[in-house]
Amino acid sequence: MAKHIFVTGGVVSSLGKGLTSASVGMLLEKRGLSVRMQKLDPYLNVDPGTMSPYQHGEVYVLDDGSETDLDLGHYERFTSGPLTRDSNYTTGQIYLSVIEKERRGEFLGKTVQVIPHVTGEIQQCIARLAETKDSSGRKPDVVITEIGGTVGDIESLPFMEAIRQFALTAGKGNCLFMHLTLVPYLKAARELKTKPTQHSVGLLRQIGIQPDILVCRCEQPIGRDDREKIALFCNVPVDAVIEERDKDFSIYEVPLSLVENRLDAQICERLGLDTPEPNLDDWHDLLNRLRRPDHEISIAVVGKYAEHRDAYKSIYESIDHAGIHHKAQIRIGRIRSEDVEAEGPERLLSGYDGVLVPGGFGERGIEGKVQAIRWARERGVPFFGICLGMQCAVVEYGRDVIGLENAHSTEFDKDTPHPVICLLDEQRDVTDKGGTMRLGAQPAVLAEGSLIASCYGKEEVSERHRHRYEFNNQYRQQYEANGMRFGGTSPDGKLVEAVEIPGHPWFLAVQYHPEFKSKPIAAQPLFAGFVGAAVAHRKRRNERAAQPADSHQPNETQHVG
Ligand code: GLN
Repeated sequence: MAKHIFVTGGVVSSLGKGLTSASVGMLLEKRGLSVRMQKLDPYLNVDPGTMSPYQHGEVYVLDDGSETDLDLGHYERFTSGPLTRDSNYTTGQIYLSVIEKERRGEFLGKTVQVIPHVTGEIQQCIARLAETKDSSGRKPDVVITEIGGTVGDIESLPFMEAIRQFALTAGKGNCLFMHLTLVPYLKAARELKTKPTQHSVGLLRQIGIQPDILVCRCEQPIGRDDREKIALFCNVPVDAVIEERDKDFSIYEVPLSLVENRLDAQICERLGLDTPEPNLDDWHDLLNRLRRPDHEISIAVVGKYAEHRDAYKSIYESIDHAGIHHKAQIRIGRIRSEDVEAEGPERLLSGYDGVLVPGGFGERGIEGKVQAIRWARERGVPFFGICLGMQCAVVEYGRDVIGLENAHSTEFDKDTPHPVICLLDEQRDVTDKGGTMRLGAQPAVLAEGSLIASCYGKEEVSERHRHRYEFNNQYRQQYEANGMRFGGTSPDGKLVEAVEIPGHPWFLAVQYHPEFKSKPIAAQPLFAGFVGAAVAHRKRRNERAAQPADSHQPNETQHVG
């Protein structure tokens, strides 16, 4: 039977519960255990697919097409167990399921209530994950369930109650409650404060949950005295009080510091899991690469939600992974596409070694993206387009190179004379905003000798999608005749998956989202290719700058296409 770890958070939100849970998952895997991870979110949306990135950060898409919370991105980057629909439940989904059962008469005339029906449904979601098998047919030894929100929130109460009941049935030795709290440092008093932690554990105990391990987020080290105090007031042994200090350098230090503070050892001891110490050589190597970079480059990410750090979370992470791969320190410029419209691309983009236009929805800032792409295309600056980024690249090329005046996507201009991006016939009548997109893993075949095939080193790949609009095949010949290459399509050849410009140093755009499959120790091949091209671009720039002034090219602009 699987062991269960429940992760809750207290005092404030944004403590990094997702990252800590993912780190625990990774450390347990490195001890040879099979792990599954799950997030239970207390909001009422059925999934985050309909939520604005401003509200909730990016929507993380899984192979099976589920649109999930961005914490699942941490799970997937740090651990290797499969993530599916069973890995993310919201209050909305739980209630939907309970209400559908009620309508079908499955409760046999009973009054349907939060306890036991809603809490029962939640427990089933947890139990179900424990029965899933990975690709080698192995069931999990450990299930880690993270509860979103902060203890004390009204909306997370049914989840708290459900995990309390779950532990009662599963037996104490099979479950572990790990609580993340904040231990702030008060400058005026020159003291760490343990009271917020005491209160938040007090709230948990009021609902019948006694945490087994406290992970204390802090800026300053927590001394033995403070740990003893926390232990006494919160009713845990002192070695169950684990310090998790802020990391200035990199989030990848988190798992290493948790091992140092013996979190994984404590968990295994408490759950009776007899496992060897984890081997973290690859993780140490990763940090060494980060600490001693060979190159320094800068990449501009031009998007609609640039000011919101979490809106393009997986994109930024994937760029970092590619940086680790190339031992390149990367400065990422987060540029609002609307600013490109207002100030022009030269002012905002000159000096960058690569331009990336990510996915998105809605018309705002579209022309800024088109201008940024034109700037990168004309100057021979590496360009990487993702989803909406590819659609904008197609629009730009159509307008400027092929001469299709006012070419556009019908998402933004229904009456454009040249609908180079449009809905497929079968999608035209859809009005429902939830789950009506092309979602999840789908295969693509890549053209022999293309840039994209050379990045992957193979000609068949599977990547995740999340979009409605497609390249309009009526324009395919015209684009090809004018120098754009269709580097990837769906296996039946009907859907364009990737475009590139052969004469350009590195210009590639894909209809799917490669950022969902990058890992710190295995950079996604297209990101690796893009960052490699940006490193080469910087080298060329440096070489040109080192040449005596009179040998400078009069005009740096390299017109391509
Ligand atoms: N809005 C575009 C579409 O629906 C692109 C979506 C995206 O970038 N994820 O096709």
